[in-house]
Amino acid sequence: MKEISIMSRITLLEEKILKICENCGRKRNEIKVMAVSKNHGIEEIKEVYNAGISMFGENRIQEAVKKFEYEELRKNIDLHFIGNLQRNKAKKAVNFFDCIQTLDRDSLLDELAVLTSIKEEPLMVLLEFHTGEDTKAGYRSLEDLFWAVEKLLLCPGLKLEGLMTMAPFTSCKDSQRRSFKALYKAKEEVKKRFLLEMPCLSMGMTQDFETAIEEGSTLLRIGSGIFGGD
Ligand SMILES: *Cc1c(COP(=O)(O)O)cnc(C)c1O
Repeated sequence: MKEISIMSRITLLEEKILKICENCGRKRNEIKVMAVSKNHGIEEIKEVYNAGISMFGENRIQEAVKKFEYEELRKNIDLHFIGNLQRNKAKKAVNFFDCIQTLDRDSLLDELAVLTSIKEEPLMVLLEFHTGEDTKAGYRSLEDLFWAVEKLLLCPGLKLEGLMTMAPFTSCKDSQRRSFKALYKAKEEVKKRFLLEMPCLSMGMTQDFETAIEEGSTLLRIGSGIFGGD
């Protein structure tokens, strides 16, 4: 069976996003779509880019470097790291990515702070908050998250753009929604406590982006919904 093309998948996705926005009273332009290109080659990635998406997410440093390092395309896109970042790979990540979305623990924060202290442009980061039972990563409590925010605000090389989470891997809408609500609430609590408005709420993947939009997502991370293969 022949799969439908990347172009038609993106068109379909866009229609769904528009419809959800209409239904829940949000503006389409509040929401960005990032294509999660892990496990997909540069030719497919170029197709996605030509269809109008210029933000990409990768979860392995080596794979990303190998794919993008010598590509002209690299200059025209925003590349985000969304995987588990080991400290010994942090240096490469800092030099190669435009944003680290999965800043999920203090030891990594400290490492990134040192590595970026001499950078001219601050590195964008999102703090990962743990909201779903079956994922491991992320800050576990609001208190820990607050500490991380406090630390981040003292790091000249790091710019806190927002929060990221993974909902549980389930088709149960209620548990997805609980997860997204928790991330939204965390953002509100940070705002109250630090008078800090964070523009980015990275939540929602192929199977749960509709709920994520309803709960305030500003950045969807879509893999199979764009590249196929689910
Ligand atoms: C793979 C991945 C995605 C995309 O998943 P799909 O279900 O294919 O849309 C989003 N976020 C993270 C962190 C991922 O690892």
